[in-house]
Amino acid sequence: TAKRTDREYSIFSTDLDTHTIEQLSLLSDLRDTLVHDKLILYYQPQMDMKTKKVVGVEVLSRWIHPLQGYIPPDIFIPMAEQNGLMKKLTLWVLEKALHQSKKWCEEGLNLHISVNLSASDLQDFHLPDNVQRILYKYNIDPKTLTLEITESLIMSDPVRAMETLKHLSSMGIKLSIDDFGTGYSSLAYLKNLSVDEIKVDKSFVMDMTEDKNNEIIVRTIINLAHNLGLRVVAEGIEQKGVWNKLVDLECDIAQGYFLCAPASAESFYNWYIERELF
Ligand code: C2E
Ligand code: CA
Ligand code: CA
Ligand code: CA
Repeated sequence: TAKRTDREYSIFSTDLDTHTIEQLSLLSDLRDTLVHDKLILYYQPQMDMKTKKVVGVEVLSRWIHPLQGYIPPDIFIPMAEQNGLMKKLTLWVLEKALHQSKKWCEEGLNLHISVNLSASDLQDFHLPDNVQRILYKYNIDPKTLTLEITESLIMSDPVRAMETLKHLSSMGIKLSIDDFGTGYSSLAYLKNLSVDEIKVDKSFVMDMTEDKNNEIIVRTIINLAHNLGLRVVAEGIEQKGVWNKLVDLECDIAQGYFLCAPASAESFYNWYIERELF
């Protein structure tokens, strides 16, 4: 199915009047999909820009609906979030992703795994224990797990979110601020939280060689991160020119279609083997 633009997604997901029935039926299908273990995980590689080594993957959920085909996460993630399905979805993703990580590890691939969290995850006091249990089950070093959170996610209930994040961080898990630069929050949490990484939002990265303002924003975020001792990931790198610019700016980690689009575990594995071993 054709990929829709972000704009179409938001119209689809907010225009409840015309889409209520569609939404309700999708919602019950999503419940069903989760119960029957039918989501798919895709993996997008992250490369160290200095060593040119693939160091990790971001895990992205995919839902192939039996009738409607590909439903983008920008539609079903908010749907899960609004209807109390998010905790289940997140634990399902963590379980699958860390299981995959263990399998890769057994084949000699040592990769960091980044998993996205949602707002309700940070309001869930059981999350740290659940994560601990899954790490233990697959014998995975917590340092190799990164949890990606957005600024708006913290701000919906900062006190509670901080508590959960502190707990996760004390377990050795890494924290990343996703979509950095698009939120409204103050920068105070960067020093108060034990954040390890910042991901520059792709809206700044994608066209930074054509848009001078975006280049300045990216440059400034990289400097800010480095001055705070944080690692920077640039996402949404689609062109060689942007890649080269980011090398010049000393960005640490690269992610985007230019390197590799998100892929199934098998496709990613084949891509990795070909690239790293030959
Ligand atoms: P995100 O976390 O910001 O993920 C990055 C998005 O950018 C992904 O979209 C990815 O496929 C896309 N992308 C990667 N490289 C490029 C590129 O070079 N150019 C462009 N234009 N896009 C690129 P995707 O997979 O459609 O996911 C959309 C959003 O849905 C994610 O944004 C994340 O917020 C959410 N999401 C996806 N899977 C999960 C999940 O398992 N749990 C949670 N809580 N959220 C998820
Ligand atoms: Ca992310
Ligand atoms: Ca992002
Ligand atoms: Ca996003």
